[in-house]
Amino acid sequence: MDTDTKRIVVIGAGFAGLWSALGAARKLDELHMPTDQVEVVVINGTPYHSIRVRNYEQPLDDTLVPLADVLDPAGVRRIQGIVRSIDLPNHRVGFESGDSSTQWIGYDRLILAAGSELARPAIPGLHEFTFDVDTFEGAAKLHAHLLALPERPEAPGRYTVVVVGAGLTGVELAAELPARLRGIVGDNASAEVRVILADRSAKIGQAMGGAQPVIEEALRAQGVELRPGVSLEAVTRDGVQLTGGEHIDAATVVWCGGMRANPLTAQFPVSLDAFGRVPVDSFLRVTDVPGVFAAGDCARILIDGERPSVMSCQHSRPMGRHAGHNVVCDLLGLAMLPLCIDWYTTILDLGPWGAVYTEGWERRLASQGEAAKQTKRTINCDRIYPPSTKQREDILQAAAPVVQAPPYTVRGAD
Ligand SMILES: Cc1cc2nc3c(=O)[nH]c(=O)nc-3n(C[C@H](O)[C@H](O)[C@H](O)COP(=O)(O)OP(=O)(O)OC[C@H]3O[C@@H](n4cnc5c(N)ncnc54)[C@H](O)[C@@H]3O)c2cc1C
Repeated sequence: MDTDTKRIVVIGAGFAGLWSALGAARKLDELHMPTDQVEVVVINGTPYHSIRVRNYEQPLDDTLVPLADVLDPAGVRRIQGIVRSIDLPNHRVGFESGDSSTQWIGYDRLILAAGSELARPAIPGLHEFTFDVDTFEGAAKLHAHLLALPERPEAPGRYTVVVVGAGLTGVELAAELPARLRGIVGDNASAEVRVILADRSAKIGQAMGGAQPVIEEALRAQGVELRPGVSLEAVTRDGVQLTGGEHIDAATVVWCGGMRANPLTAQFPVSLDAFGRVPVDSFLRVTDVPGVFAAGDCARILIDGERPSVMSCQHSRPMGRHAGHNVVCDLLGLAMLPLCIDWYTTILDLGPWGAVYTEGWERRLASQGEAAKQTKRTINCDRIYPPSTKQREDILQAAAPVVQAPPYTVRGAD
């Protein structure tokens, strides 16, 4: 690389990182900026963009988008590596790639988009004996374990799954599992299938406003046993211990206890929020750290000027597109665009029963059942994917710093 070439480095290629890199490439293209003057580099742990929101589903074959198909046509350089250090004073990032030695890459501007990971509190047995759907690998491991259950010797709880944590991920997984497990065990053993959803809240789906009764109805209709008001005390190879002394025999325990920002945020000299996120302004600039932007689950922005962003694909994608656009503007001394999203929706999959769609921060019910399921399918299989054409124009066009309209749904149906 020419020593005069400016470099924008993006850490992570999830919903925020992929769209940050493409947003930057789009702006550079619009400015007719040659790549020997400004290059965009993405460092990601895998060669894929993972459609992480689908990890409660099976099969997951379509959820890994090769980064080469999207970044190469856009002229973005890829590095497969794990970032370990961010050296802010020297404007460089240290990463491990292949062997375990650290390599360094300098930057003129940096975007942190390393996402989040499942919070794992120090509950006995949690690390050793629980499964998760936080990553593609975690979801694949859980599914392989479920497929192997019929080969195990008969034992109490062989076909019992306890899902702990009834946030959005826990509910979506619990709603999927009865039908998935029955498909695995076959007709003879399907009566032995038990799926239990446990949460410390007084009600399952407590934070879901107008959707709460719908969630309970859908889960019960599919035979999911609900255990609100309990905490997980311990996990063993054979089951769980809940508060109040209840022991449940279970060959499968899935932990869905919430997300925390990537630990790289701890390397920033800023106050992190309760989720471990760095504060960013409306242009996605990290507060008091010049030249560094952050987007997605790593960052906390006041998304409508008042409320903090939610760790979600819904917010990560527009945060990424704006961060990418703004990082180029900042580098070249152009005016930046503030991000402001004045709508919020939650669309929760409820398995074969359907789905539920709410609007607003108080979560007013907009649609449910098959109508909401159709919306969820469109989101999971189309809306949140990058273009599959491998055409530069399509990819750059999709990276424009615009806020999409809320997903369409048929109201009042079902
Ligand atoms: C099962 C499930 C269902 C969900 N459902 C929904 C939903 O319905 N709606 C919704 O809006 N959100 C949903 N979410 C949340 C959503 O997936 C996240 O909020 C979103 O993925 C955040 O995007 P991100 O780009 O910030 O992080 P991620 O998508 O996690 O991407 C981070 C990227 O950074 C890479 N990376 C991490 N650390 C490093 C490192 N040190 N070096 C290099 N690369 C690194 C990772 O490999 C990854 O590619 C769901 C999450 C899960 C797990």
